[in-house]
Order: sequence, then structure tokens, then C-alpha cells
Amino acid sequence: MAHDILIVGAGAAGLFAARELAQAGRKVFIVEARNRIGGRIYPLPESEFGYPAQGGAEFIHGEAAISREILKTAGATFEHSGEWWSTFDGEPRSDESPTPHNESLEEKLKALKEDMPIAAFFDHYLGEPKYARLRDYIFRRVEGYDAADPARFSAFALREQIFGEGGWGDLMAKEGYTLLLQALERDWAKSGVEIILNREVRRIELGARCVKLTCADRSIFEASQALLTVPLPILAKIEFKPALPEKREAANGIGFGTVIKILLRFKDRWWVKARGRDFSRMSFVFSKETVPTWWTQYPEPHATLTGWVAGPKAQRLSNLSEAELLERALASLANIFQVEVERLRGELLVGRVVNWTEEPFTFGAYSYPTPQTKAAVEELLKPVDGRLFFAGEALYHGETGTVEAALSSGRDAAKRMLGR
Ligand SMILES: Cc1cc2nc3c(=O)[nH]c(=O)nc-3n(C[C@H](O)[C@H](O)[C@H](O)COP(=O)(O)OP(=O)(O)OC[C@H]3O[C@@H](n4cnc5c(N)ncnc54)[C@H](O)[C@@H]3O)c2cc1C
Repeated sequence: MAHDILIVGAGAAGLFAARELAQAGRKVFIVEARNRIGGRIYPLPESEFGYPAQGGAEFIHGEAAISREILKTAGATFEHSGEWWSTFDGEPRSDESPTPHNESLEEKLKALKEDMPIAAFFDHYLGEPKYARLRDYIFRRVEGYDAADPARFSAFALREQIFGEGGWGDLMAKEGYTLLLQALERDWAKSGVEIILNREVRRIELGARCVKLTCADRSIFEASQALLTVPLPILAKIEFKPALPEKREAANGIGFGTVIKILLRFKDRWWVKARGRDFSRMSFVFSKETVPTWWTQYPEPHATLTGWVAGPKAQRLSNLSEAELLERALASLANIFQVEVERLRGELLVGRVVNWTEEPFTFGAYSYPTPQTKAAVEELLKPVDGRLFFAGEALYHGETGTVEAALSSGRDAAKRMLGR
């Protein structure tokens, strides 16, 4: 066998694990289905947007020690977001007003002994009509930020997000996650990691002495151990021999939401003085439109607005064509800023839709916790016969669905494979 370890997937988890394993002296070979590395870190051409725009991950959430360290060492410029606006009642308001009944939410969540989906939690504990606005606000957050279905999202996870240490994504690197990918690529190239692109793994066979991968083009790779880092929905598409029903069942216990991201580059920042307001320091605006959330590149002066539809709303729109989604995006912006849609069409230089629901090697955006997730993660982290290991953003005991979760999971998997 030419390699000690095969890694399936060149996303953040696979790349980081490869670096750790190669630095420990293992011969590592990565098999990647796409024609590029990065997975859900998806840099778009700088020539299109005039800056390293991102079709996937963009913000740095929470403490994110590993991500920050890699980015800092690579020379990143960290930037905080500017003003947050909303237009829920039609009027633009800077920053969301404090959530009504926030204390009741805190009290009931903190008293909760057993986890349950957040929708059931509201039905049980905060079902009275006076809590309707609070419910609206929380559901919008769970759908928009976690890309999750409130009927499945864990109440314990929400408690941790709101009243724990976590934080909304308000920090970004000016150079984007492009810089993190470049840094990882440099490191593993130095450590002798090899990679093959355009190879979709379809079957994984566990033999007495090796793991054998068979790809869609019938190419075969063998090694004594393998690490599978594909997104959760892909686990159901790979054939395992012997079958691994306990892993499939565990994967079903973790939520996986979807996102449509729409980047619109205009001739200039026409929104800065819209509606007679000063939006020059605006980072985010939240609304009730079809494409409800938008952000700028503030403090950078780029004339690009990024639209975001997530969770069940994105699922409902996912069959629309790119042209239809662009139209809905422009109409949403026209309503938020009260400008003619014709004017926006005239100002538009580049429109790019990244519909993650349709991405064949992801089929969605990122995972979210349900009440079954903890047990499911434990099951998925158990290696099979000491040969087949699992990693990825979903297989992490902290806040999942982030680049940091993927990197941490890759690091932990490498340690397990090295017997540490
Ligand atoms: C739109 C969007 C926005 C996001 N925003 C943020 C953000 O702002 N901040 C943040 O921290 N995180 C964000 N995330 C989440 C973050 O991008 C992911 O959690 C992280 O990048 C996942 O890394 P991973 O290695 O676990 O999986 P992936 O990046 O998905 O890597 C898995 C790899 O496996 C490959 N693969 C799949 N199937 C096969 C197969 N059969 N054979 C071979 N290879 C295969 C894939 O092509 C991919 O390269 C966002 C994600 C999306 C989609």
C-alpha cells in the first residue's frame, strides 16, 4: 500500500487532519470529489467581485481559537461589523429592539431539565399570545442563523447560544477564508500530503487489513486507515461494506439545514442614502422579505450586497432557477430600501447565486443540534474496526456548523488515528 491513510474530502476538517497526520510522519492521500479544495469554504473569483468574496463560510463565530490562529499567522486583517438594521414593521430601525419577555425565556430555558425541540418548548412553556413576538424573534433566529427547523432544533443549544459564551458572527477577515485555505495548503504540501481531485467516493469496503475506496469512475484506493469527512447528507449516499446501519441512524439524529446565498455587485453603494437615512455604516439588515437578510462588506467600501435565505425558507425556494432567485433578491432589496427595481437592475454588475441545497457534494449548508445530537455524535465518533474514522463540522461537541468546528473535528480525528 502506497499510503497509510486515506482522507475522503478536502474541506476544513480533511485538510486540517491531513496536516496533523502528515506532520506526525504518516503518508496521507486525500480523495476529493470536487475540482477544488475547501468544500463549504468556497472563494469566488476576485476578478468578479473586486475582493475575495465567499460563496460559503464568511464570518468568524465565537472564540474560534484554531481559525484565528491560522488566519493571524497568515497575516489576516480582522474587522468587526458595523450597524445592524431591521425593517420588520416597515420602518428601518438601527439594531433590534430588546426582545420582549427575554427574562421569561431565560428563566424557562434555564429551568429546563430535559432537552426538547425549541418549537415544542414554546408550546409547553411560552404558549400564551403575549409571547408571540418573542416566539417570532427566536424562530427567525433559529431559521436564519442556524439554518434550522424549529420543530427539530435543540432548546439546550439555543440556551447555550443566547445565554452562554457563544456569539453572533460579527468578525470577519478582510481576506476571507481564502487565506485560511491557502495557509493549510502550504502546510500540507510541505508535509508531503498528496491529493486527487474529481474523484467521488461511492463505496467503502473494510477488509481484514485495509480500507478500500471505490470512486464513481471506478478508480480504487487502499490504505490501512481512512478518515471520512463528507457532509452528513453524503453519508447516506456512500455504500459501506459491511453495512453500517448504526452510523446511518446516528446521522439522521443530527439536523442539517440549507442556505441560498446571493451576491450582488453594483456599480456603486446606492443604498448608503436610501430612504433618507444614513446607511453608510450598515453591516446587516434583517427584514420580512423573500430574501430576508442582507449584509455589506463594511468597513470595506465594496459595492456588493450579500443576500441570505436559510432553513425551511431556503428549502421552499430551492427549486427556483438562478434567474428567478436573482429577481426575488432584487425585489426584496427594492422593498427594503424603497427604490425602483428597474434602477437596481441598471446598477447591477454581477449577480451570483449559490444554492447549497442543490450542491451535489453537500446537499445543504451545515448541521444543527437536535435533542438526539449528543448521542449521535458519540456514535459517529466511534471508529469502525480501528480502520474507518469520521470527522466534519457536525461531529463536534461544541458549536457545530462552523469552520472552527470542522478544524477542531479534524484535529481530534487525527489524534484518535494516531492513538493519542
Ligand atoms: C453558505 C454557507 C455559509 C457559511 N457561513 C459560515 C460562516 O460564516 N462561518 C463559519 O464558521 N462557518 C460557516 N459555514 C459552515 C462552514 O463552511 C462549514 O461548517 C465547514 O466549512 C465544513 O467543513 P467540513 O470539512 O466539515 O465539510 P466540507 O467543507 O463540506 O468538506 C467535505 C468535503 O468532502 C467532499 N466530498 C463530498 N462527497 C464526497 C465524496 N463522495 N467523495 C469524495 N469527496 C467528497 C466535498 O466536496 C468537500 O470538499 C457556512 C456554510 C455554508 C454552506
